This record gives sequence, structure tokens and C-alpha cells, in this order.
Amino acid sequence: MKLVTCGLPYANGKAHIGHLRTYIPADVYVKYLRMMGEKVLFICGSDCHGTPIVVNAEKEGISPRELVDRYHEHFKKVFASVGIEFDYFGRTDSEYHHEMTKNFVKKLIEKSYVYSKEIELAYCPKCKRFLPDRYVEGICPYCGAVARGDECDQGCGRYLEPGEIKEPRCKICGTKAEFRKQKHYFFKLTAFRDFLLEYLDKVGGTENALNYARKWVKQELKDWCITRNLEWGVKFPGEDLVVYVWVDAPIGYISYTREACKNLGCDWEKIWVEGVKKEGDIKWGDIIHFIGLDIVYHHCIFWPAMLKGVEFALPSAIVASGMVKVEGKTFSKTRGYVVWVEDDYLKSGFNPDYLRYYIVNYTSHQKDLNFSWKVFMDKVNNELIANLGNFIYRVTYFAWKNFEGDVWSFNVKADDSVIKAVEKARNEIVKAIKNWEFKIASDAFMELASFGNNYFQSKEPWELIKSDKEKCAEVIANCLHIVKALTILAYPVLPFSMKEVAKIIGVDEFRMNKVNEFEKIKVLKKPKPPFKKVEEEKIEEMEKLMIDRIRKADEKTVKYVTIDDLSKLDLRVGKILRAEKVKKSRKLIKLEVDIGNEVRQIVAGIAETYKPEELVGKQVVVVANMKPAKLMGVESRGMILAADVEGKAVLLTPEKEVPIGSKVR
Ligand SMILES: [Zn+2]
Ligand SMILES: [Zn+2]
Repeated sequence: MKLVTCGLPYANGKAHIGHLRTYIPADVYVKYLRMMGEKVLFICGSDCHGTPIVVNAEKEGISPRELVDRYHEHFKKVFASVGIEFDYFGRTDSEYHHEMTKNFVKKLIEKSYVYSKEIELAYCPKCKRFLPDRYVEGICPYCGAVARGDECDQGCGRYLEPGEIKEPRCKICGTKAEFRKQKHYFFKLTAFRDFLLEYLDKVGGTENALNYARKWVKQELKDWCITRNLEWGVKFPGEDLVVYVWVDAPIGYISYTREACKNLGCDWEKIWVEGVKKEGDIKWGDIIHFIGLDIVYHHCIFWPAMLKGVEFALPSAIVASGMVKVEGKTFSKTRGYVVWVEDDYLKSGFNPDYLRYYIVNYTSHQKDLNFSWKVFMDKVNNELIANLGNFIYRVTYFAWKNFEGDVWSFNVKADDSVIKAVEKARNEIVKAIKNWEFKIASDAFMELASFGNNYFQSKEPWELIKSDKEKCAEVIANCLHIVKALTILAYPVLPFSMKEVAKIIGVDEFRMNKVNEFEKIKVLKKPKPPFKKVEEEKIEEMEKLMIDRIRKADEKTVKYVTIDDLSKLDLRVGKILRAEKVKKSRKLIKLEVDIGNEVRQIVAGIAETYKPEELVGKQVVVVANMKPAKLMGVESRGMILAADVEGKAVLLTPEKEVPIGSKVR
């Protein structure tokens, strides 16, 4: 039995297109595997713990459980509505999951992979509490960006350990936090360094995930604090602490497998404990994780080490989907660049198959997907309808109208070119699916539909029906062979529409080995076009909805300043005298800048756009009264201004050379 999982959706908000970017290809993958005769278990569930849920529930004045209930039901409903068929959709706040997690952690303790240590943690003197993860905000010690307690989400993207954040403030009341000592528990991640390097070398999946993880293991592996000061979560054995949400969430894959197996009669221990083969130090399972790029650390580093620690089987592949853009801009819920699956898409009455096709067919699984309503309309009207839908409808309608759906009273035989085209599409799809190439798979059935359209057109059955009815029947029999192949081959991507077509032509099961069979396909009832056109006015309406949302988000974030505020800034033109990269940093460059009356050392996060040697001699705008700070241990006294272009810095420089030290007003 093969196990396929999807990264657990966090039960703290509604389903959006970013979720579907991972879940739809996973569902498509599972549907194809099942058509090929493989036994697959497909599981997922809500991730219910962690500080964001607690913080949000507090804000709404409800319990974390109530908040989780709401979103758990929402996800279940939305996933079913878009045709994602999990065998089990669990939740991590359930008793069975708590039990599984406690046993797992106990095993890690027994194997001596967990130790305790006193650490300095952010503490709010006003709220009188420790501030785990999202309860605290401050400065990233690596890149100097504003960061959350557990993640540098606006800067370098690093995962932050408790106590690492600089200048912490309480997120609830805004008070400057103190550091206080407390005993916490650590997982000996560093003991797994060699194992992880070997594992990441051998594990299957997409390179985007693995490359990133390998680099991180080589450079920055540290032991991992696995306890938090919270009430909501799985209790850590013998302490008034809970285990960190990123310890218990992936264990959800195991507890959901066990629950699914209870219902379906499979054996979870075969999947997770026995595995399928041993190779040196690695016990492999037949387990495939579909994830988003934002959770690569957790799935490629923490999780395999935890599994190895309890001697469980390891995932055989980690498949990461590329990021999502909306109308060309980086996906962002707060800035309004988002498509909500239920409120925007489903409630507008769009066929879920259209979105499935868009996500799978827009680009390869590892690349960034841009969702645009215009492109959406184009893909539906000019690809699905004009090609696939057109072929299926014209063939079935022709057979219905001229032969009452049955061409088999004539003596007809298979056309070699048709048999070959069908075989080719099937083989391409089988190969593509094994390589996580869902775009190639969907292109293959679309090419078969094009072939069908050309075949129909070139044989002119509308002429043959008048001159040679037997010949005409043969053409239609061959076209029906293509229609049947398309119905099966496109089913995993377009399940709702292809089920309808299957009813019309009497196909009752979707199996790969039926595709090549030249069967006596009949049209059993009056055909309908499989797809409905997307109207331009509807698309304009959707675009307007999004523009309004973006404008509202902008208004919310605008903070007006006065001349007085502005005059607090001492802005001057300086000239870069020297520049060198800060050691061990991807982004930082150390500059010496002449600002007229002195030469300042300034550290700037511009190494991704500029080489040090390009910078020397450039005039730049300097914030001269910036509070001094240390970035990666290097002092910085000032800041240089730059435009932020999709995360890359482009320096501001005077339009013509000016005297050094000139004031900027
Ligand atoms: Zn950072
Ligand atoms: Zn506070």
C-alpha cells in the first residue's frame, strides 16, 4: 500500500488557491495511480495547534477548539467540492492524535534524543507570561528584518529558535519583553547530520525542496527546542508545557493513517514501522509527501530525523509545489492578492474542474503558478471548450443524430493511426505521472483531443454520411475510441465533467488498461457539451472584486505622516568608498560610505542584486540618524535607501552627481 499525504492545512483561516496549488496535483496523482491499479491511501487533516490559533481565538473571544471546529469543517467541505477525495481527513486536536504524539515523544526520550536545558525566553512583565512564537515580535538576528518569534517571515525566511529573536516585544500588549530563564526540552537534531545528508541524497521528489534542505543541513543544523509555554496542544510528558506544533503536526500523518486503516482494514504499522526495504542506514517506506515550498525545512529535515529517531520508515519522496502569484503579484492575503476557493470561486458558480485544469496545466509543478482571471477564461474557452469539449461533443452528437448512437451494425475496423495516437497519449501520461509532471500529463490528453479534431475534420464524416454510410460509421467508431480514451485519461484532472461524459458513452470504470481496448462504444443518450463557456462579464466582475479588495487592503495599511515626522529623518547623499560581502550571509554587504563630515560603516541587504565591486563610487541616499545596529555581528551605523522590487533591492541614487553630504528634502 502506497501512502500519499498533503501538508496539513492550518485551521486558522479559509481555503485559498495556495492550498489547492498543492492538494489538487496530489489528488490528480492519486487518481492516476489508482487508474493504473496501484493501492493508495490518501490522507490529510487539519493542523489544530500552535500560537496563531490561540492568538486568533483570544481576539474573537472564543476557545481555540471553537475556532478549529469552524475551519476544520470548512476545509472538509471545500476539498470535497473541488473533487479532492481523501480517504481520511483528521484533526490534530483529537484524542487519537494526542495519544500517538505522546507515544512518539516518549520513544524519542527513551532513545536519549531529547534533553533539557535552561534557556532565556522572552517574557512579558505586563501580561505576566512567557511569549512563545507568535506572541512575540522583534528583529531577526541573522538579517535584521522585523520577525516573528519562530520565523523571519519578512526577511531571510529562517526558522528561529525560542530566545533567538532580538529586541522582543509582546504581540498582545506591545510591552518591551524581558528575558527570563526556563527549562525547556531539545531534540538532538545535530546527531542526525550525516544521516540527513545521506537521506536527502537518496530520497525521491522534486529538486526545489531537496536542494534547499541539503544546503541548510550543511550550514546551519542546530538542536531543536520542542516545547512551548502554552495550554493548547499536546502535553509534554511530565511537564506543564506542550510540544511544539511542528513536532505534533507531521505525526498527524501517522495518526490519520492509523484511523484510516481502522475504517479500511489496512495495517498502519506496515506502512510506518515496517517499511518496504532497507538500504544501509535507511528504512524506506512507500510514503509520498506533497507539500508547499514554505514547509520544506520541516519535511526534509525535522521530520526525517524524528522518524529515524524512533526507527520508523522514511518517506520515499517529498514533492514540493512552486509558489502562487495572483494577477502577477506575490500571493498575499493581507494585501488582497488572493483567490478564496469558496467565497470567490465556488459561490460564483464556476465548475471546479476548470480550476483543477488551470492549476495542473498552467505550468510545471515546481514552478511558480500565476493565477489571472483573464488567463483562466482563456484556458477554459480556448483550450477545454474549443479543443477537448468540442471534440467530445461533435463526435457523440454526430453518432447520436446519424446512427442513433450505435455504429456497430456496420462492418468497421480500427484505424492504425488512431490506435497509435491513443497509445502514445497513454504512455506519455504514465511516464509523466511517475515524474510528478502533471502539466505534461494534461498536455498529453489535450494533444490527443487535437489529433481527434484533425482526424474528424480530415475524414469529413458529414460528407460520407451521404455517400458511404459504412465508411462514415468506421470514422465515427474510431472517433468514439478517442472519446473513450479521453474520458479516462482526463478523468483525474476533470473528474466532474468526465463522469458525465462516461455516463453518455457507457464507460463505468476509469482504468488505464481499458484505454487501448478498441471496444464497441455507443452513445446511450442525447449528448450535452461537457463544458460551459466562461462569460467575459463574469470575469470582469471577478477582476473588479479583486481590485476592490486590493484597494481596501492598501487603505488599511496606509499610515499618514506629517512634515514634522519627515523632518526627523536625517537624509544625506553619500558616496560608497568600499564594499565587501559579510561572511556567511547571503544578503548582506558591508559598506564604507562617505557622508561628507565622516565615513560610516553601513550593512545593507543588497548582495542578491549587487556585487561589491559594482558599488564602489556610487552615490546613494543615506539615513544618517538611524539607530546603530548589529547585523550578523557586524555594526551598521545608518541605512541606505533602495526600491524593493519583488524582494530585490535597487539603490536610489541622485539623478546627477551632487556634492557629498548634500541634504535630501
Ligand atoms: Zn532574517
Ligand atoms: Zn504583554
